[in-house]
This record gives sequence, C-alpha cells and structure tokens, in this order.
Amino acid sequence: MNVNSLIVNTAMADALDVIGDRWSLLVLRDVFLGVRRFEQLRQKTGASRATLTRRLESFVTNDILYKCLYSTTGKRFEYRLTEKGLGLFSASLLSWQWECLWAEQGDNVLPERLFHSSCNHELAIAAVCQHCKCPIEIGDVEWPDLSQHLDSQFQEITAKSKQRRVRSSAKSGLEDLSLVHVSSLIGDRWSLLIIIASFLGVDRYDAFQKQLNIASNILTGRLNLLVDADVLKRVAYQENPPRSEYRLTEKGKTLFPLVMVMRQWAIDWALKDRRVEVLTHKCCKQPLAVDIQCQHCKQKPWAKDVQFQYSDA
Ligand SMILES: [Zn+2]
Ligand SMILES: [Zn+2]
Repeated sequence: MNVNSLIVNTAMADALDVIGDRWSLLVLRDVFLGVRRFEQLRQKTGASRATLTRRLESFVTNDILYKCLYSTTGKRFEYRLTEKGLGLFSASLLSWQWECLWAEQGDNVLPERLFHSSCNHELAIAAVCQHCKCPIEIGDVEWPDLSQHLDSQFQEITAKSKQRRVRSSAKSGLEDLSLVHVSSLIGDRWSLLIIIASFLGVDRYDAFQKQLNIASNILTGRLNLLVDADVLKRVAYQENPPRSEYRLTEKGKTLFPLVMVMRQWAIDWALKDRRVEVLTHKCCKQPLAVDIQCQHCKQKPWAKDVQFQYSDA
C-alpha cells in the first residue's frame, strides 16, 4: 500500500489550495459568523489589506464567496457565501469543535458554545456515514490498495507541497486566533500527509519516509511539530540504539472526522470530474460518504440554524 495514493486522492490537496492556509480559514470563520464587509473582516481577522484582498479574490475565483453590491452610491460590495462556500460549513463546525475541545486554557477566542435552533439544544456535532449514520471512526474505513497508480498523483502533490511550504510555516503573528491551531496542522500538506499516514497505521520514521517519499529534514521538522502540538507522541520501541515510533494521541485521533469531512467537501465541490478513489465504510460496506449530524436531534445542522454563543455573552 502506498500512502501517497491515499492522499486523500488529491481531493484534499485541491481543497487545501483554496482553503488550506491560516488566513483563509480565519476569513471563512468570520464569514460564517456573519461578517460580510472588507473593513469588518480586516478588523476581525487582523489580516493586512493585501493579505485579505488576496484571500477574498481567491475565494471569489474559486466560487466560495461572491461579491454583492450593498451600496450603489459608493459602489460598495460585500462578500457572501456561495453554495460551494456553504458546503464548507460542516468542516468549519468540526474545526470549531476540535479547537474548543483541545484549546489550552485562555487561548480560545472561538465561541465556546454552538446552539442548534432546530432542536433547541446546544450543538455537538458528529461526522457520520451518510448511509448507515454511524459515527466515522479511524478503524472503520477501508483504504484501497492503490500502489499501481500513484506515482503521478504523488509527484503532483509533492510539487504543490514544495511550493506551499513557506506559506504554511510563515510567522503570522496570530497567536490569539484559535483556528491557527487546526489550520497549521491540516493546512500544511506534509503535516496532513503524515497525519493521514498515521491514520493508516504508519508509526516509524523509516516507514513515513518510505511511504511519503519525504526529505528527512522535512519529515523531522513536521514530526517535531506534530509532537509539540500533541497530535503525535513518541513511544520508545527499542533501547539500544534508542528508537521511537510516533503514535496518534487522543487529540490526533479526533482529527480524523475533520479530515474526512474536508475530503468529502473536496469531492463534492472541488474536484469536478476528476477520479476519486473510493473508500469503503466497513460498518455498512457502502462507499464512504461523510456528513455531519447534531448529536441530539440527529439532523444535519445548516448554517441558518446554528447560533454561536461566546461564553462571556
Ligand atoms: Zn456506513
Ligand atoms: Zn439538533
């Protein structure tokens, strides 16, 4: 089995081109919170004009936001979500939930509570199989053996990863902004690849290197980053010479539904006619299609039915 092929099938790679950097996720977060106008977005996100302009242009080009005239006198525009953009709501909600679950005390500026007005309950979200409605768990997904057709996909992803490396590790000065966390993990292709390899059971340095064909300095850097972020932990398996393997922590395991939901978005909205490898949901033996569900009423939460409540509100 070759992990590169499972890269979530370039679906994730394509999605990440659009939304996979910190600023993009921050801008989207605020758009979902109802912020529509350039100046407001700038204040909320703390992005520079140039950065915000680039991200908004990219969102418009990629059909995630559209511009809408709100004042004819000054020709002023605001930004609204397209259907495709609204499709990102599930991934946003799960990112939120993940952030709230794992935030260090004091570093969470996200609304801590989400409220589902359809059922009048606080919203807790689960990623579920669209067929059998079972929650999506790491061990329940069957990955195909695709080693034969991976080389081209792999090269494509590697090339993109190289282009994007700088961006993902650039200092952003965003310490107080909480999506930084999740976006710096899954918004970086190499980190994402390593996390996906971990989902598949890869745990040793040599195996990561072989499966991902990744330069050792990049691999070492990303593994350190993931250990620091408490997504992976080092566990010694040999004393002489000392050797450790990298295992997913509980925090790392909880990234799985989020990664699967992002993959689903990429398949539904970003891939157009490209071929996607089919994963199978072991519970129902159906091709895996992922959705989200309110854990209370078991319905899919739509953006219009979800309210965000800050804890000090
Ligand atoms: Zn199922
Ligand atoms: Zn509900």
